[in-house]
Amino acid sequence: MKILVANNAGFCFGVKRAVEKAYDQLNNKDGKNTYTYGDLIHNPQVVSDLEGKGIKSIKKIENLTKNDRIIIRTHGISEKIYNNLKEKKIELIDMTCPFVKRVQKIVNGYYKKGYCIIIIGDKNHPEVIGVNGWCNDSAFVVKSVDDAKILPHLNKACVVAQTTITQEMWDDILDILNKKVDELISFNTICDATHKRQKSAEELSKEVDIMIVIGGKNSSNTQKLKKICESNCKNTIQIESAGEIDINTFRDVDIVGITAGASTPDYLIEEVIKKIMGTRKEDSNE
Ligand code: SF4
Repeated sequence: MKILVANNAGFCFGVKRAVEKAYDQLNNKDGKNTYTYGDLIHNPQVVSDLEGKGIKSIKKIENLTKNDRIIIRTHGISEKIYNNLKEKKIELIDMTCPFVKRVQKIVNGYYKKGYCIIIIGDKNHPEVIGVNGWCNDSAFVVKSVDDAKILPHLNKACVVAQTTITQEMWDDILDILNKKVDELISFNTICDATHKRQKSAEELSKEVDIMIVIGGKNSSNTQKLKKICESNCKNTIQIESAGEIDINTFRDVDIVGITAGASTPDYLIEEVIKKIMGTRKEDSNE
């Protein structure tokens, strides 16, 4: 049995930077409490490890004091929350991914110039909630061609993408928007890391008998990887850790493909490989 890992799998630049910064804080002995605003990344194993070491995830900032510091995760926050934290003089460690910051700046700039804002993405995703918070929560958020079709006619609008959507979703929805908006300014803000992971997963899933997607069940980019892999390999499973692997699954399998969402640390990928190798000791790993 061969195990092939996708060329681009696991931690992306933004997540790596945020996780390293959070672990750095464990050496900070200034007596302040450190929190993350929401789960730092969409990976329950990393979140619970940080909690065990004293960095808790919180959803509300009301009770924070000057003795606290807060880490802003890669998804970013709204302008209102940002200003609230500043007013309360809470120390901020802003780990908003620079690619997400760029989207926030575009939205804020065009909103101030009088453009309607359209975000292609999931209205419940924290990144989209944060970005919408830079245009006073006024954006139209669309996540399907059907959503786009029921938008009102607009004179001028600026459209951006949630960084983790697929290129196909962007193209399909943009087609409709071009017919609905007189003056449409578009910024394809899909992150390159996302695109590369999706492309590698797509290619690999065409070559294998079973495809394993490792990542948090609540991770949007992991869900999309799963969907892409399923379209080429019906035998696709998603897991969060090696513990979920059923060794019987690999009995008659020749080639196993592995990919992992942008919030999946390398050690979880390695544990999965070890577990699969343990099921067929005579086989090789690539
Ligand atoms: S997926 Fe892209 S935008 Fe999101 S955190 Fe990673 S590098 Fe940043």
